[in-house]
Amino acid sequence: MKETKEFQTESKELLNLMINSIYSNNEIFLRELISNASDAIDKYRYQALSSKGEMPLNEFEINLSVDKKKRTITISDNGIGMSKEDLINNLGTIAKSGSKDFASKLKEAKEKQDLNIIGQFGVGFYSAFMVASKIEVLTKTYNGQGYLFTSDGQESYTIEEKDKETVGTEITIYLKKSSKEVDYDSYLEQYKIKNLVKKYSDYIRYPIKMMVTKSEQVLDKDGKPVEGKYEDKQVLETLNSMIPLWKKNKSEVTDEDLNEFYKNKFNDYENPLAI
Ligand code: ADP
Repeated sequence: MKETKEFQTESKELLNLMINSIYSNNEIFLRELISNASDAIDKYRYQALSSKGEMPLNEFEINLSVDKKKRTITISDNGIGMSKEDLINNLGTIAKSGSKDFASKLKEAKEKQDLNIIGQFGVGFYSAFMVASKIEVLTKTYNGQGYLFTSDGQESYTIEEKDKETVGTEITIYLKKSSKEVDYDSYLEQYKIKNLVKKYSDYIRYPIKMMVTKSEQVLDKDGKPVEGKYEDKQVLETLNSMIPLWKKNKSEVTDEDLNEFYKNKFNDYENPLAI
C-alpha cells in the first residue's frame, strides 16, 4: 500500500529553498549523496563486525550510473539501508544535527536570498532537489523489507513496500529540465561525474565505481592489437583514489584540492585564508 506523508515544516522551508535554487554550486549534491552512502557503509560494517559473523562483510562499494534517455543519475550503496521508520525520521524530517541553529539561519538566509547556507551546512540529502524534479529512494535493511520512497521535494512524499534483492540504498535522481540559466544535462556526461568525484569525493574510503565507455585498440585473432583500429568498450572503473589528502605526495596535491578539502571538512563556503 502506498502512503503519502507531509514533510515537516522546517523541511518544507528547506526544500522550497532547494527546489527553487539555481545555486551555482549545485554540483555539491553528488558529494552529499556519496558521503551519505559512505556513512551508511560505515554503519553496516560496524554492525556486521559486532554481529559475530551473522551479518556478512560484503565487498563494500558505491556505484554510480546515468541513464541519458531517462535523464537519471543513480547512486547505490551496500550500506545499512533504511527501514520504513528510518525513511520517515531521516528523510521526512530535516537532519537533526544542529537543526535549531539551522532553522534560524535558514530564515535569515531566505530574507537575504543568501544561498551560501547550503554550502555552509552541508544539508545533505535535500541538496539533491537543487538538480532533481523527483527523487526515488529504494532501500532495504539486513533482514528487512524493501521500501520505495518517492518525492518531488515539495509538500509530501510517498512510501510503499517494494522488493529489493540486496541490502543497501539506491537513490535515483530525475534531473530537472535544463534552462538558459542551468544546464542540468551536463550531469549525464561521464567526464562531469568523474570530475566531480575527483574534486569532492576522492578520499572516500570505499570504491566509487561507474561503467564508463573507453576507446580500446581492437585485437586480432591472436590477441594482438590492430594498428589504428579502436572500438568503444564498457568498463567498470573506480573513480576515486581512496587516498586521503595528507597521505598523497605533495607534488600531486593542487591548491584547489586543498581548498576543497578545507571547505568540505569545515562546511565553509570560502577558501581558507592560507594554505
Ligand atoms: P546528515 O547526513 O547530515 O545526517 P542527510 O539529510 O544527508 O543528513 O541524511 C539524513 C539521514 O538519512 C542520515 O543521517 C542517514 O541516517 C539517512 N540516510 C541518508 N542517505 C542514506 C543512505 N544512502 N543509506 C542509509 N541511510 C541514509
